[in-house]
Amino acid sequence: MYGKIKEHLQKELADIKEAGLFKEERIIVTPQSADIKVDTGEDVLNFCANNYLGLSNHPKLVAAAKEGLDTHGYGMSSVRFICGTQDLHKTLERKIAEFFGTEDTILYAACFDANGGVFEPLFTVEDAIISDSLNHASIIDGVRLCKAQRFRYKNADMEDLEEKLKEAQSARFRIIVTDGAFSMDGNVAPLDKINELAKKYDALVMVDECHSAGVVGKTGRGVTEYFNIRGEVDIITGTLGKAFGGAIGGFTTGKKEIIEMLRQRSRPYLFSNSIPPMVANAGIAMFDMMAETTELQDKLHSNTEYFVEKMKNAGFDIKPTKSAICAVMLYDAKLSQVMASKLLAEGIYVIGFYYPVVPKDQARIRVQLSAGHKKEQLDKCIAAFTKVGKELGVIE
Ligand SMILES: *Cc1c(COP(=O)(O)O)cnc(C)c1O
Repeated sequence: MYGKIKEHLQKELADIKEAGLFKEERIIVTPQSADIKVDTGEDVLNFCANNYLGLSNHPKLVAAAKEGLDTHGYGMSSVRFICGTQDLHKTLERKIAEFFGTEDTILYAACFDANGGVFEPLFTVEDAIISDSLNHASIIDGVRLCKAQRFRYKNADMEDLEEKLKEAQSARFRIIVTDGAFSMDGNVAPLDKINELAKKYDALVMVDECHSAGVVGKTGRGVTEYFNIRGEVDIITGTLGKAFGGAIGGFTTGKKEIIEMLRQRSRPYLFSNSIPPMVANAGIAMFDMMAETTELQDKLHSNTEYFVEKMKNAGFDIKPTKSAICAVMLYDAKLSQVMASKLLAEGIYVIGFYYPVVPKDQARIRVQLSAGHKKEQLDKCIAAFTKVGKELGVIE
């Protein structure tokens, strides 16, 4: 009977609102892009999407999706191993492996599922998972679904990781797990050092490339390219929902036997639907594009450098970044909200983050750069930050 819980939920929701933590959704009435229109009528420049390569509404991907619809239909109505595998799914898996220099790939409906389904089939109580403290929620949940012993090391702290590796030496297998780029700071995991420690203490390495794939490294092949260790990491997970077109879909790519075991045992793969053919076909077109040219990466990297440089020159406190994430540090929670709403009034859509999303007194505005931003759009954003920053006394 719905009654007691209704009151309980109403109270909890009121508490969330009271604490200022209630999440409202802004409604966009145009395709996802650098410039969007919201349902209240304003045109704004978008600096808070994960649309790093500007592909979310790219004509080639839209055309490939339409072609996929025409040639392969709308939906699969099946999990992969029953009757949900088309040639498109196999081709896309191969293209992902080629992109990362890995042996094989398994697709999921989302990276949340890839991370949710990667640990339990491979590790048991005899094993140890050693995880960065800032890893994504989906990694945390995936680890929870597995019976292995858990260790957590401080973000990108190699001394602490070594301590945890020593503590985990009696386990049968050990795996170090990290995000490639951390979404709130924009720093990347020191994968070269992680790899050395993994060799020294006989551990596997897994990296979640959601915010780094397509972005980090000279040609956008991710953190393994950045640290020149392509093909050396055992497991990479990633998403088609950020830089790679932004639709939906996740994957795990890596060593052949690992991928093969996941196809046999990974629950989100065995018990959840295949990605639709149009998404698979657009994904193939996207990876073909990546193989042809690094134009978008070049644009993204120069946009990011330009933006960070100008913002520093304007006097803003910017976290060192190696990705397309630029954290403008404000420290004060209230200020981050006031500043974000003043920026919106200037036509700049950004989000202010504060505790518990980031540590206490580390409030900030996160700016996400894109290859889809034109120089004059970056300039408009910098000018708005400078104007509002002066008004609020953030800069002089
Ligand atoms: C976005 C993200 C995910 C989830 O990806 P989806 O495909 O949207 O489920 C997982 N891990 C990290 C690090 C992410 O940033």
